[in-house]
Amino acid sequence: MNWIIFGTIGAVLMAMIPVIGWLMAVGLVGMVLWKTFGFRETQLIGSCPACTKSLPIDPKTDVLACPVCQSCIAVQDDRLVIVKID
Ligand SMILES: [Zn+2]
Repeated sequence: MNWIIFGTIGAVLMAMIPVIGWLMAVGLVGMVLWKTFGFRETQLIGSCPACTKSLPIDPKTDVLACPVCQSCIAVQDDRLVIVKID
């Protein structure tokens, strides 16, 4: 589904309803902007705790391997922590 097209049509239709529709149209536009652009801002950049190499971090990942030093790194509260594998 294309959120920009869907949202624009929905917002125009709602804007024809006075007051309540205007508020809903504003809310819908905000939701479309969030759906379209919001997820990109959650991409994190962190430094490998072992070799200080900058790494892009997918927020959905909990554990990743550093491509440079091969350390196993856990994402905890927006920080990167080395995981020791015995
Ligand atoms: Zn590293």
